[in-house]
Order: sequence, then structure tokens, then C-alpha cells
Amino acid sequence: MPELANCPKCGKVFTKAFRSVCSACHDEVERQFQEVYAFIRKRENRRATMEEVEEGTGVDREQIVTFVREGRILTSQFPGLSYPCESCGAEIREGRLCGSCKGNIQDGLKRRDSEAAFEQRKTDRSKERYTTYHSLGDRVNKDRR
Ligand SMILES: [Zn+2]
Ligand SMILES: [Zn+2]
Repeated sequence: MPELANCPKCGKVFTKAFRSVCSACHDEVERQFQEVYAFIRKRENRRATMEEVEEGTGVDREQIVTFVREGRILTSQFPGLSYPCESCGAEIREGRLCGSCKGNIQDGLKRRDSEAAFEQRKTDRSKERYTTYHSLGDRVNKDRR
């Protein structure tokens, strides 16, 4: 049973079988991709920035960023194509976050780990104390006997 959906781009009802947008929008995106790709492949445009590509092709920057994120346009080949980090807005050329935002997330994880380790040590220590008291108590009992 084919699933009907509204195209997220143009709002038209379409059959959601192979694509997430309707075929007219898919064709339009493909056309835009060809346009962008033809533009940046020109020698003089190899180092073009997002703005320049947007201006030169009339394609939305959002869409160009999508091509880059999808890996269809490689920033290793086109070093001018940077886009904002989703967290702080710094210019990045791959993934969704810049290096320092990625670092922050990792730091956060590490901190959680070391807190967990600290809790563990605390538990171990109180267990030790318990054992000490316990054996001390045994001795006291023995002495009394
Ligand atoms: Zn559409
Ligand atoms: Zn960032």
C-alpha cells in the first residue's frame, strides 16, 4: 500500500515510495545540484564561498549546505564551502558541529565517567570501613569472652 504524504518542500500530496519529497521537487533539487556542481567545478570557482555559489547559481544556501552534509559536494575539494556549526555558528566544513563543540560534548561525557568512578571509590571506602568495624567488633566480643 503506497503511503501518501505532503511534500515537505511544496506541500503537494505525493506517494511516499522512494523519496522524501515529491518527484517535481526531487527533479528541482537534482537540477540545483547539477547547477551548483557545474559552477564550483570551474577552475575559477574552486575556492568559491557559500555566498558566491549562492549568487552564482541562485540556489539557496540551505540547499547547498544540504549537498555538503549529504557528502555530495566534498569540502576537501572545495575548501571555500564552509557553513555554520549547529551549536555555536562557527564556520565548519564537515559534520554538524565544530571541533570545540564536539570537544565540549566529549568533555561532558568524560566528566560524567569520572564522577561515576568517584562514587564507586566512595562506596568501596565505606565498605572497607564497615569491614574494619566489623572485625574490630569481633575482637571486642572475643576479648569479653
Ligand atoms: Zn514537492
Ligand atoms: Zn561550534
